[in-house]
Amino acid sequence: MTTADDAVPTCLARPPLAGPGDNPAGCVAARGVDGRPAHAAALRFYWGPMDCGKSTMALQMNYNHSRQGRRGLVTTRIDRSLGPQVTTRIGLAHEAIEVTDSLDLRALVHDAWADGVRVDYLICDEASFYSVEHVEQMAELVDSYDVDVYAFGLATDFRSCLFPAAQRLFELADSVARIQVEVLCWCGREGLLNARVAGGRVVREGEQVVIGDTVDTGEVRYQVLCRRHHRAGDLGPG
Ligand SMILES: [Zn+2]
Repeated sequence: MTTADDAVPTCLARPPLAGPGDNPAGCVAARGVDGRPAHAAALRFYWGPMDCGKSTMALQMNYNHSRQGRRGLVTTRIDRSLGPQVTTRIGLAHEAIEVTDSLDLRALVHDAWADGVRVDYLICDEASFYSVEHVEQMAELVDSYDVDVYAFGLATDFRSCLFPAAQRLFELADSVARIQVEVLCWCGREGLLNARVAGGRVVREGEQVVIGDTVDTGEVRYQVLCRRHHRAGDLGPG
């Protein structure tokens, strides 16, 4: 039997750090009237269908911030490589921390700070596969610890329904942006939805998360379709 106490990760059993001042050598920004930094941290969600370049943008974001002397952590869950790294379909890769149900993102940052490692931001790739609790933790990192959180992920699953974490990000994020790189359906229209394909047919029932890629490597693959052809289950000629 699990009790409420059992559910608390051991890393949170320690006294929490006091606040953003514990970030080693962190930037000390000008303070606003409420005592918070005038440059407020933010939770930003970037979303789009498969193949639209989310992971590429995540790594570019990490690069841009690190170029300016900021320090961050990169996290992912169920990357297509199935390893603790962010990989992109155009060949970029970066080591990353694998997010599990028991991982607490606040504790991750606190532990880094306790080890003298500065963390100014988190890059959270494949964020739609995180839990709703993880999204709450992202918001707390922004609001209480002045850590920027940039989340990247799908909005909807193969049934065209929101992932729970994506829904929470839409509800809580300071900004939400659809990634502007277009992915085309076979018909030439803009691709919007991810179809799950098994045995050559569009599947409409099953687990919300099943590993697959947009290249045909196994029993299940995914294909980006326009809404018209997702609704029709039409995978196009060939
Ligand atoms: Zn189409």
